[in-house]
Amino acid sequence: MMNIKENLDALRPEIPSNVKLIVVSKMQSLQRIREVYAAGQRRFGENRVQDLIAKQPLLPIDIEWHFIGHLQTNKVKFIAPFVHVIQSIDSLKLLREIDKEALRNNRIIDCMLQIYIATEETKFGLDLTEARNLLASGEFRALHYIRIIGLMGMATYTPDVALIQKEFRTLKVYFDALSKEYFADDPGFTEISTGMSGDYRIAIEEGSTMVRIGSKIFQE
Ligand SMILES: *Cc1c(COP(=O)(O)O)cnc(C)c1O
Repeated sequence: MMNIKENLDALRPEIPSNVKLIVVSKMQSLQRIREVYAAGQRRFGENRVQDLIAKQPLLPIDIEWHFIGHLQTNKVKFIAPFVHVIQSIDSLKLLREIDKEALRNNRIIDCMLQIYIATEETKFGLDLTEARNLLASGEFRALHYIRIIGLMGMATYTPDVALIQKEFRTLKVYFDALSKEYFADDPGFTEISTGMSGDYRIAIEEGSTMVRIGSKIFQE
C-alpha cells in the first residue's frame, strides 16, 4: 500500500523539469491536500467553484490554484481574488468577465483556451475554428488583466494509445498554429496543459508542458 508521499516521490522522476505538475485535488479532503503540500507540491487544480472557494481559505496562501473545470460567467467573481490560472476558457464572454473581475481585484489572471480534441461528445472546449474566431477579433489584446498563456485539452478516455497520441499531436499542431498566427510577438504563450493519471506519459512525449494528475497521487 502506498501513501501520498510515496505516490508523489514515484511520479516526480517521470516529469521532466520543463513540465509542471498540477495535482488535481478535487473531492480530496483538506488533510490529504496538506499531505501533498507537505511533500513540497504548490500547484493544485480544482474543477468546481464551490469546492475551490471552500478549500482555498483553509489551505496555505502560497498554493497556486488552477481552475480546470467548466466555469460559468457569474461565478468568476468568487475565484478572481486568488486563482492563479483559469485553464478552461471557452468563450470571449468568459475572458471579458475574468478581465473585469481581475481589474476589480487589482491582479492579472493567467488563462488558457480549452480545446476540444477528444472524440467523445462530453468534453467541453473550443474547436480550432472557434479558437481562431475568438482570437481573430483581437479583442483579447485589449483585456489588460488577463494573459492567455496557452492551451488545455483532454484526450478521449480510452485504452487506445494510438488514439490518445493522435489527439495530443492535434493539440500540439493547434498550439503551433495559433502561436504563429496570434502570439508571434507574445513570449508568454508557452503552455500546453494535457495529460492525466492514465495518459500523462504519452502527453509528455507529445509536448505537454503541464500535466494534471489526481487519482494516481491520492490512490491508496
Ligand atoms: C479530474 C481531472 C484531472 C485528473 O484526473 P486523474 O485521472 O484523476 O488524474 C485532470 N484534468 C481535469 C480537467 C480533471 O477534471
